[in-house]
Amino acid sequence: MPEKPKLAIYWAASCGGCEIAVVNLHEKLLDVDAAFEFMFCPCLLDTKKKDIEALPDKSIAITLFNGAIRTGENEEMAQILRKKSQLLIAFGSCACEGCIPGLANLHSKKDIFKAVYLDNPTIDNPDGTVPSISNEVPEGTLTIPAFHEKVKTLGQVTEVDYFIPGCPPESHQIWNIVAAVVSGAQLPPLGSVIGGGCISVCDECERVKADKKIERFYRNFEITPEPEKCLLEQGLLCMGIATRDGCGAPCPQANMPCTGCYGPPEGVTDQGARMIAALGSILDIGDSKGKSEEEIAARVEALLDRIPDYAGTFYKYSLPGSIIGGKVDK
Ligand code: SF4
Ligand code: SF4
Repeated sequence: MPEKPKLAIYWAASCGGCEIAVVNLHEKLLDVDAAFEFMFCPCLLDTKKKDIEALPDKSIAITLFNGAIRTGENEEMAQILRKKSQLLIAFGSCACEGCIPGLANLHSKKDIFKAVYLDNPTIDNPDGTVPSISNEVPEGTLTIPAFHEKVKTLGQVTEVDYFIPGCPPESHQIWNIVAAVVSGAQLPPLGSVIGGGCISVCDECERVKADKKIERFYRNFEITPEPEKCLLEQGLLCMGIATRDGCGAPCPQANMPCTGCYGPPEGVTDQGARMIAALGSILDIGDSKGKSEEEIAARVEALLDRIPDYAGTFYKYSLPGSIIGGKVDK
């Protein structure tokens, strides 16, 4: 029997949700198993790093790499899997854009270590020990992976063939891709986003859009939205306007604003900037006739003050991959 193509799934700085999305293929997993030799997945299989290093270059047909790059180990595995894989696919928002782990870029490494190892009330650390890469112990030298200064996307440390968006990617989209590969269908040009659309979540959302004007923002718990009207028009900060379609808009359909997990639409570099620009044109600042610039600015400020967390709202999934990338040290 001819050898089946090898399939690897790796997790770097991630939560395991992308693996759950694969498990959600349910009985189609049998088709995946029939088509591929599923040979590397740290949360399921005991394949070791040395087993991967021993493989000839390009001998893995597809690696689905989920998770952001937080540590030296994450980066080293990205390089190894790049070398060993014909197709290296950034799988899910963490690998594509940095996602939730990437919000750590709002803090320096020093501040993170201080919060976790020194100021943490549940830790007893009288000597103020923080992790270091190399440690001498009676048995010899122990090393641990370096904690990088910033979280990076997979594409920021190695060449990526395709990007599958989503936090996690929707299982029907994963299946579409697997089916396309198995059937030998022509894939889009290298570097493309696959498993998503080319427009925005608003375009696939069934809620009725009228003339978007926002008089005030509400937190989700403050109102019960009308069931059919666009959530953004009701003052709920829905990111659909700045988010790639392809998920099927399940969140707005369930009365929850889109939080933007499919990343920016095609052609948009910075999801947060896109959303902020969109809000700039739909905030209702009332009749500005005869008002001074200061009065208009105060009205805009009052409206925006209702948004509790700018970075966590506009860059929840995309901070490391954004133009700013994180906190800027002056
Ligand atoms: Fe739907 Fe949200 Fe877009 Fe409104 S802003 S149309 S609720 S996705
Ligand atoms: Fe993600 Fe938005 Fe789609 Fe919900 S509606 S799955 S938050 S992209």
